[in-house]
Amino acid sequence: MRSEAFQKCIDPSCGLEYPVTDIRIECDRGHLLDIKYTSKPSSSLKETFYKRRNHSNNIFNESGVWRFRELLNFCQIDTENIDECSKYLVSLDGAEGRLSKPYHMSKVSDYVGVQNMWLQPEGYNPSGSFKDNGMATAVTHAKLVNIKKIICASTGNTSASAAMYAANENMECDVYIPAGEVAPGKLSQAFQFGSQVIEIKGNFDDALSASLKRAGEADGYTVNSVNPFRIEGQKTIVFRALESRDWDAPDWIVYPGGALGNTSSCGKSLMELYEWGWIKKIPRIAVVNSEGANTLHTLYNGKFEESKLRWNKGKPDTDLIKRYYEFMDANGIRPKTKATAIQIAKPANILKGIRALEFTDGVVTQVSDSEMLDGMALVGLNGFDCEMASGAVPAGIKKLIHEGMIKKDDTVIGILTGRQKDSSIPVDYHKNSQNKFANPPRS
Ligand SMILES: [Zn+2]
Repeated sequence: MRSEAFQKCIDPSCGLEYPVTDIRIECDRGHLLDIKYTSKPSSSLKETFYKRRNHSNNIFNESGVWRFRELLNFCQIDTENIDECSKYLVSLDGAEGRLSKPYHMSKVSDYVGVQNMWLQPEGYNPSGSFKDNGMATAVTHAKLVNIKKIICASTGNTSASAAMYAANENMECDVYIPAGEVAPGKLSQAFQFGSQVIEIKGNFDDALSASLKRAGEADGYTVNSVNPFRIEGQKTIVFRALESRDWDAPDWIVYPGGALGNTSSCGKSLMELYEWGWIKKIPRIAVVNSEGANTLHTLYNGKFEESKLRWNKGKPDTDLIKRYYEFMDANGIRPKTKATAIQIAKPANILKGIRALEFTDGVVTQVSDSEMLDGMALVGLNGFDCEMASGAVPAGIKKLIHEGMIKKDDTVIGILTGRQKDSSIPVDYHKNSQNKFANPPRS
């Protein structure tokens, strides 16, 4: 079934609309955009999605993103027509999202103190992080509008994913990275997949500014999560999590907090599913910041000025955000954590993020680097691999249980955003016998 799709400004008092074929990351007044659909998908599609798991060599059924294609049909194609899918949809041979689903990890459960907990390793994606969910859709849109070159800023995982899809689609790719702040395994992917690496002095926020400026000057196509088509693909992280529970919503969905693209896409998918009546309960989102890059925690919990930053039904106090950014700049406060994937001080999706938190009655907490490392090590002890930023998830759940926010009999799904691409982090951790879960070598 075809559905009408269009782009719409997220600010309810603005609400400007644009066709899907427009290339833009904001409305004419500078607000972020959503992809909207006019049709309400029938819940009988749940059955279709389940049947597609027996994919019969159809890569769009094999893909954990495109298996749900009716819920992100911005190309407005006949989703059952394989020729039309092949012509429009970008996929790495069905690999994106194929293996990621929630797993029960008993050692993590015992440590954090909640048994009804599942962790979903998005590191099982082809480039090794959740980014592939959204990159498949963003590059699909780029192809739809005849783009030959994509551009992004990255702490490493975005560039790896963008470079991989660009290589596969024969597009060029420029990646802006903060010099010296990207894990070697991620940087090597950008080189290997043939993208042009541009090193920027400064941090991720500086690299993003530089890449957006360049994209603006040269009509470049940005594939960062400010691109609303990225968010569409990342909705499938939630679809897979819910499908594994027969669409019975958990009490909590927990993410690490960086640029807040995941928080935004989680919120959008839950808003849509709830509006369509596919879920009866709205899970609460918990976002876990690093203590060294904790802008959302600071503003959401009223730690800068007394007022707490809220979406406020579409009237957020954007001046509060502006004042905090000016305060950080004036005082030389730079994000600092060894978890470079979330070393971001100015989350580009902060408004969509707080909209998601308001819709889901969400919470924001923060954890230290050593808590994240323990979380990462514990996931490893269950036979799964994740990067340090993903270790924020078990660490944050433990903290929220300790604070009584998450109850011991709640059901919790945590998203492990990426696999380990900096081998020195676990090696250093395990060699130091002072660490809680260290596994030091013997001589
Ligand atoms: Zn607007």
